[in-house]
Amino acid sequence: MKDTFKHKGMRNKLAQVLIEKGITDKTVLDAVRAVPRHMFMDSSFEGHAYQDKAFPIAANQTISQPYTVAFQTELLDLKPNQTVLEIGTGSGYQTAVLLKCKAKVYTIERQLELFKKTSLFFKKMGYRPKKFIFGDGYKGLPENAPYDGIIVTAGAPEVPRALLSQLKVGGRLVIPVGIEDQIMTVYTRSSEKEFEKTEYGPFRFVPLLEDKN
Ligand code: SAH
Repeated sequence: MKDTFKHKGMRNKLAQVLIEKGITDKTVLDAVRAVPRHMFMDSSFEGHAYQDKAFPIAANQTISQPYTVAFQTELLDLKPNQTVLEIGTGSGYQTAVLLKCKAKVYTIERQLELFKKTSLFFKKMGYRPKKFIFGDGYKGLPENAPYDGIIVTAGAPEVPRALLSQLKVGGRLVIPVGIEDQIMTVYTRSSEKEFEKTEYGPFRFVPLLEDKN
């Protein structure tokens, strides 16, 4: 699959749609203009890649809607070279957007099929997260904590405590919380022991699953 001028033109239009929906962060919009979303998807969806919609990927999962990716990235409010832990790598599109925003990214996926597929894809495309881990993101990734930002791209029935504990003071956890629908929620660590919680609108994600063992 190639990236053509036609695809670039469609990405510019997509960025315009995101601006109309309220995205303002220039770094995020530039990342949407840069990352070839069609290459993260099955070729049968190529013609639809720049619609603001979620699509199926392998293992019954979905590539998030561009608006959702842009909104969550904007909520992380990253400065260049900050560290981000992403739970739910999926297609890797959100990962690539974070990398374009100059984040150092640690990302975790629990579906083996997707992990293998996306690992190969990252190599082929030259995307270099700091770590790409196969496992359960519910527990976070303590060995590289604390993080400036943590982003969860699956619907969490409740907020995993491990993730809160792996934030730097001043860092933010961006997480959709709920079972059927999710409320996008940001927890900012205001001190070692205190968190501020802000809620945004409703979204719909595939579920964040915990590996109980
Ligand atoms: N950011 C991805 C979203 C994929 S959907 C994209 O835009 O492509 C959410 C992903 O979270 C799925 O791939 C699912 O397998 C993964 N997931 C669910 N629970 C998880 C967990 N506990 N740890 C890591 N990944 C998880």
